[in-house]
Amino acid sequence: MADDLKDLYDAIVLGGGPAGLTAALYLARARYRVLVVEKEKFGGQITITADVVNYPGVERGSGEAITKTMRQQAINFGAEFLVAEATSLDVKGDIKTVHTSAGDRKAFGLIVATGAQPRTVGFKGEEEFKGHGVAYCATCDGEFFTGLDVFVVGGGLAAAEESGFLTKYARHVTILVRDAAMNVPASALQAVEANDKITVLYNTEIVELTGDDTPRALRYKNNKTGEETSYAPPAGETFGVFVFAGYVPSTAIVKGLVELDERGYVVTDPATLATNAPGVYAAGDVRPKVLRQMVTATADGAIAGTELERDIAALQEKTGLVPKMPVREVDPSATSQAPAPATAADVVGTSGFFTDDIKAQLNTVFPRMEKPLVLRAVLDAQPVSTELQGFLSELAGLSGGKLSVDVVTGQAAIDLGGLTPRVDIMRDGTDTGLSFGGVPGGHEFNSFVLGLYNAAGPGQPLDDATRARIAAIAKPTDIRILVSLSCTMCPETVLSSQRIASLNPKVTARAYDLSHFPALREQYNVMSVPCILIDDQEPHFGKKSLPQMLDLLEG
Ligand SMILES: Cc1cc2nc3c(=O)[nH]c(=O)nc-3n(C[C@H](O)[C@H](O)[C@H](O)COP(=O)(O)OP(=O)(O)OC[C@H]3O[C@@H](n4cnc5c(N)ncnc54)[C@H](O)[C@@H]3O)c2cc1C
Repeated sequence: MADDLKDLYDAIVLGGGPAGLTAALYLARARYRVLVVEKEKFGGQITITADVVNYPGVERGSGEAITKTMRQQAINFGAEFLVAEATSLDVKGDIKTVHTSAGDRKAFGLIVATGAQPRTVGFKGEEEFKGHGVAYCATCDGEFFTGLDVFVVGGGLAAAEESGFLTKYARHVTILVRDAAMNVPASALQAVEANDKITVLYNTEIVELTGDDTPRALRYKNNKTGEETSYAPPAGETFGVFVFAGYVPSTAIVKGLVELDERGYVVTDPATLATNAPGVYAAGDVRPKVLRQMVTATADGAIAGTELERDIAALQEKTGLVPKMPVREVDPSATSQAPAPATAADVVGTSGFFTDDIKAQLNTVFPRMEKPLVLRAVLDAQPVSTELQGFLSELAGLSGGKLSVDVVTGQAAIDLGGLTPRVDIMRDGTDTGLSFGGVPGGHEFNSFVLGLYNAAGPGQPLDDATRARIAAIAKPTDIRILVSLSCTMCPETVLSSQRIASLNPKVTARAYDLSHFPALREQYNVMSVPCILIDDQEPHFGKKSLPQMLDLLEG
């Protein structure tokens, strides 16, 4: 067998949302070797939703919790996972190649389950105020608009549901619907209409958003009558514009390889979900359908997985190659699988900081760390310093000697400089440049643990080209990532920046939980997280994969 086929998979699933996780579950249960490649966060789009009530079998749950169970089910049957971006594909022939940011992977068959991403509307000011007043994720950015007015652009279910969520923070929410009606089920419309903090304006589109550092005025018009209305908040205030205007399919990676429809969705056989490329299937939001929901995504995953089994069996027989299932049942190690994302509830337990579940996950990461690390806790007199110290001590206690804590306070902390309280990750007596300001719990727990693994080595796998790009950064570069612990988009950006810093001593990547550093928020006028500051220049916003972060640094 050729060397590069020793690690052959039966199937590779591109995308770890509900469709991809379900496809992996079905394939692994049928004893096929399957790898799920996910570039950001297992669980996909639904992880930004706190309250799902329409997924059958689950009365009520967060998107994060539901998809965590899906992933665990796939793990239980032996599915493997890789946190990496699939960058291009070779789909011709019996064995397909997926080029990823962590190297190439090969398989008999592929399932494209790359989902969709938010659509921008293109109104004047949208681009300019992105991150400073224009946002696309209510769970991530809603709290920045506490007590302020918010406009929502969109007329679908996401606009209706997220508007309700935003009323938890906003003084008032005005939904601007381009059409004469909202395109939502009656129950969702009733909820909107019954909420006295929500106003709906139909046939309405934004003309222009203007302001200084943040929005100060909005002009919108009735597209039937042409009548324009100007809005300005009370003097000195700003306001927010949340865009929920549908999604565009994430199909750049398969463009030119499989047939796409005029809107960019992957065309599939309606019964089997096969594309026009043999051995390549598509599932979930990435394909044309009338209802884009979890229930249809998981159904697609099950169909595509089952259909692909037939192709795999035929190719195994034709080639004589039978990929071996991994011997271990569960391996949530950072080398091939990121530990399942933790939630605040997971991390902060009642009898200490870590639940048994989290401790079990940590037990799979700590033994793999090559070098011991010192967690330098640079503390001050704030109560959060005590919390950070307790958190780090308990973490070190669980690490089997891989971590120790060095507490720095008083004049010594002042002499070190920098913001406090924070934890600096030290290796061989030197600052690695990775640090976290505040307590790295909530959604940041996962990125913090992977940061430790990356700092200690060997770290998450990376292809040679990406390593070379990281090594080529020649000038000292300071990256600061401003996050909130409830932000689902932030961990990816923190992880990417800190992976770069872990490999290049010229780069530092320091994350700060904004709730403990309000001065940073004010200084940079941050109304969206993650906010990325590179060498204190113009901020960038949004989640960034490793290649995207390198693009930013190189650009
Ligand atoms: C705000 C909001 C609220 C919602 N509420 C509900 C609800 O209440 N109930 C419900 O049923 N549905 C809801 N939905 C819809 C539901 O989230 C989607 O239908 C579902 O997530 C689609 O699943 P998917 O697996 O097809 O795609 P996605 O969930 O989009 O997952 C695709 C995955 O592929 C990854 N990916 C993309 N490109 C690459 C690449 N090149 N390499 C590696 N990985 C890649 C992405 O990072 C992503 O994780 C909601 C959606 C949103 C946005």
